[in-house]
Amino acid sequence: MNDKSLVISPKFIITNDTNRFIFKDHSILVDGNLITRIEPVEVLHAEAQMNGWDIVYEPNLVLIPGFIQTHVHLCQTLFRGLADDLELLDWLQYKIFPFEAAHDEKSMKYSAALGLAELIRCGTTTILDMGSINHSEVIFEQIAEFGMRAFHGKAMMDINEIFPKLKESTKQSLKSSEELARRFHNSAAGRIKYAFAPRFLLSCTDGLLKETIELLIDFRGTLFHTHASENKNELKAVRERTNMNNIEFFESLGLLHDRSCIAHCIWLNENEIGLMKKREARVLHCPSSNLKLGSGIANIPRYLKEEINVSLGADGAPCNNFLDIFVEMRLASLIQKPIHGPKALDAKTAFELATIEGAKALHLENQIGSIEIGKIADLVLIDLNQIHNSLDDSKESLYSKIVYSCDHSNVDSVMIDGKWVYKDRQFVKHDLMNIRSNAEWELKKLLNRI
Ligand SMILES: [Zn+2]
Repeated sequence: MNDKSLVISPKFIITNDTNRFIFKDHSILVDGNLITRIEPVEVLHAEAQMNGWDIVYEPNLVLIPGFIQTHVHLCQTLFRGLADDLELLDWLQYKIFPFEAAHDEKSMKYSAALGLAELIRCGTTTILDMGSINHSEVIFEQIAEFGMRAFHGKAMMDINEIFPKLKESTKQSLKSSEELARRFHNSAAGRIKYAFAPRFLLSCTDGLLKETIELLIDFRGTLFHTHASENKNELKAVRERTNMNNIEFFESLGLLHDRSCIAHCIWLNENEIGLMKKREARVLHCPSSNLKLGSGIANIPRYLKEEINVSLGADGAPCNNFLDIFVEMRLASLIQKPIHGPKALDAKTAFELATIEGAKALHLENQIGSIEIGKIADLVLIDLNQIHNSLDDSKESLYSKIVYSCDHSNVDSVMIDGKWVYKDRQFVKHDLMNIRSNAEWELKKLLNRI
């Protein structure tokens, strides 16, 4: 948090408030970690001069709310490019599970650091992250260190038929998750929260799932984070075990409610769409990952029509291979168009999924996801004047520019909780090259442990 009040004066402010208002030639005032005023530039500049407040005057940049990615795996960043061109179950069995099992504290530290650096550099200020079985405390430390706002939880796995080494007993999985929640939930001045994370049905006994959902009562403000109905072979195995589809089985165990955040949800039947809506469960949509693993295309326009909450995430680096929210927004929009027509999932909707809808998924919509008085200052300054951006300078062109023709290189500065973590295209505290070279070294050692 800044000691002094700070005035930020961009060209446009995309508020993303309920009216989707866009200000031109206005400033915001940040006091501590909160947005306290939005006024014409001249008003706040005059007061800033009188009171000695700091001013960030950026008449060529656009201020937007920080992006929210609701499904990522920091523990997998080191494995980028090492698990290409595989379908989900092979990808897990032959690559990701053996890699995750080989992590030690140091490799986990740099996997998380590399992922966090990439996420912040593309303007992501909040994540919902799923860890592996071990070393979640290291991930929490890195999240705190980078200043990220995050939900994280260790992956819970008490069965693993395809890679038996990566699992633990039901009791141990519950006990260690509870210990982590006790230690880290609401830590870093409330910026870090816990999300219980049974990995997916095929890695969890019914007992583990049922006891996990009970834990949400003991730890207020936590989430239930899992994967479901991502891949047809996964679904076949789920049917063999349960005689039901994935979401139907979750319903039978009482796992569906408004704190259930479920990644993918590609292969849902009509009944399951109805259940997601009725229980207000959240869909975490990962378009790049769904395409790269050949999993399928989720019917997002249909879910939105049913008013099911949908938000976006890059998933893990080895199934993407970026962690760039601009890639996800663009793809979320484009992949629907050949199926539902060119008007489907327009740029403004894609932007909403990556901001306010993500906040709603996490039950943080009163704090983040838009630029409004009283909300937390999680903010991004972007430069829309690069050679790959449209020359149209109007307000109306902003969503199109951001969703269809931006990438991380457009991001100028990132503030989380009222504090710059990335300013003028530089990390305030971290040396990116140093993180990358350490990550490279740790990956070499990890591969020797397999
Ligand atoms: Zn995932």
